[in-house]
Amino acid sequence: MGKMGKKRKSRGRSKGGKGRSEYVSCTNCGSRIPVDKAIKTTKRVSYVDPVLARELKKSGTFLPKVSVTKYYCVSCAVHAGIVRVRSREERLGAE
Ligand SMILES: [Zn+2]
Repeated sequence: MGKMGKKRKSRGRSKGGKGRSEYVSCTNCGSRIPVDKAIKTTKRVSYVDPVLARELKKSGTFLPKVSVTKYYCVSCAVHAGIVRVRSREERLGAE
């Protein structure tokens, strides 16, 4: 990089010097992004309607939950508020 300097120590990715990595599609916009750059979110979701779920919980019923994994590209993640745009100091810190 030399003269250009660096914006992020990791260059915005976590792959290190591993070369090419797998690709995933952004859940929101569908663009293809490398997995190590994608923002991964895992949510525990219940299939049951939230209102009904509350009632069932009150009566002590066990509610099965499924984990849903989603991948977002950086711009969608920022837009959706999953990650924030960080300052220079934050970015260059431990990572
Ligand atoms: Zn996207």
